[in-house]
Amino acid sequence: MTTDRGTGRTSGQDALHGMRILVSGAGVAGPALAYWLTRYGARTTVVETAPALRTSGFAVDFRGPTHLGVLARMGVLDELRALQTHGGAMRCVDEHGREIFTLPADFAGGDIEVLRRDLSRVLYEHSADRAEYVFGDRITRLTETAEGVHVEFARSAPRTVDLVVGADGMHSGVRRLAFGPERDFVKHLGYCLAGWDFPNDLGAGTTPEQYNVPGRMASVAADGRDPDRAGAFVVFAAPPVDHDWQDTDRHKECIAAAFAGLRWHVPQLLGTLQDASELYFDSISRVRMPHWTTGRYALLGDAAWGVTLGGMGVGTGLVGAYVLAGELAAARGDHRTALPAYEHRMRRYAGRWQRGANPGQFLAPSSATGLWVRNSLFRTRTAQRLLVSSSTSLATTPDLPEYAL
Ligand SMILES: Cc1cc2nc3c(=O)[nH]c(=O)nc-3n(C[C@H](O)[C@H](O)[C@H](O)COP(=O)(O)OP(=O)(O)OC[C@H]3O[C@@H](n4cnc5c(N)ncnc54)[C@H](O)[C@@H]3O)c2cc1C
Repeated sequence: MTTDRGTGRTSGQDALHGMRILVSGAGVAGPALAYWLTRYGARTTVVETAPALRTSGFAVDFRGPTHLGVLARMGVLDELRALQTHGGAMRCVDEHGREIFTLPADFAGGDIEVLRRDLSRVLYEHSADRAEYVFGDRITRLTETAEGVHVEFARSAPRTVDLVVGADGMHSGVRRLAFGPERDFVKHLGYCLAGWDFPNDLGAGTTPEQYNVPGRMASVAADGRDPDRAGAFVVFAAPPVDHDWQDTDRHKECIAAAFAGLRWHVPQLLGTLQDASELYFDSISRVRMPHWTTGRYALLGDAAWGVTLGGMGVGTGLVGAYVLAGELAAARGDHRTALPAYEHRMRRYAGRWQRGANPGQFLAPSSATGLWVRNSLFRTRTAQRLLVSSSTSLATTPDLPEYAL
């Protein structure tokens, strides 16, 4: 780190001074990027389609020294440790609630497990004093010119920026506008998932219990930080979604149809669905793209390399935000140098874990034989340990660069 004589400011902190960067999406990767960009002096705006930070979803985790190293550099590690759910174990049961197998806490919970809403809020709070956040809006048109990118919005006045980053998740709007239609890049992996919360009248404990029939999984757990609330989480085999992603009533109908007639706690869980105010619903899909950057556009997080429920979405999103901002700062804002360097580093890292992941097949094997094989395998300690060690090793990279700040 070097200091400019006279100003007292560090050169890293000035590296992006005055650069106008627009980030689409205030989930996890977007606020993390806003944190770093503003540290390097960029004028950063984050536009989020939801009217406020989204609160649905469950626990997400970080594992291994690379994830923890980036959290420490951001100064949020201790805060997240204090918010840990201390959950992570997963108990698989039959329709009478008898245990089939239990996965160890570090399989699902990694080194730190927090609720997604807590993570998103902490990252937002660490960037909101320096970045501009615009909620309830989205980009509708992008036009690249010699001077920058002319951006039009659904609600706000148009503006010109130097760079646009799509951190807007699996169904990214920036990807559609700047790279091409979703069908070219997002492969449906044969499943949908949904999560919602409700008053914990079932008396659910904090260790998630999951019940399977072929092609379907229903699970329930008490909220790790408010035991009076509980969350339902379901995964089910389903064709590609052909209705509007914003159509919550239609999502609820699909879930009710998929789980009708099942036993265990399923009837009670379906009973809470109608009153759920926020529903997290998605297809289980994998994003595959030949390029994550082009011209003055870059994709980050799930928009670029997402696998729904892939397990490392938050960790790789955070590492990607750190690398993207760091490469821009190292190139003093020259996107022609920085974006290929970012893509090169992240391809080697995020590309590795993304390749074979299909969480649907693991959570809800589609046949009775598949279910039996999975259950038999995960009763053994060896298979459980192998899962934990392979996911930690995929999350870890020895060559995470240091960027001057
Ligand atoms: C509501 C929700 C709940 C989730 N729950 C879980 C979970 O329980 N477990 C798990 O492993 N993963 C979950 N995920 C996925 C996980 O958060 C991501 O894998 C990870 O955070 C990667 O972060 P991201 O910032 O790239 O994407 P995301 O966290 O998906 O954030 C993308 C953000 O972009 C916004 N957005 C979408 N389209 C537009 C647009 N056109 N313009 C502007 N903004 C837009 C979204 O509203 C969202 O806030 C959830 C995602 C969401 C959105």
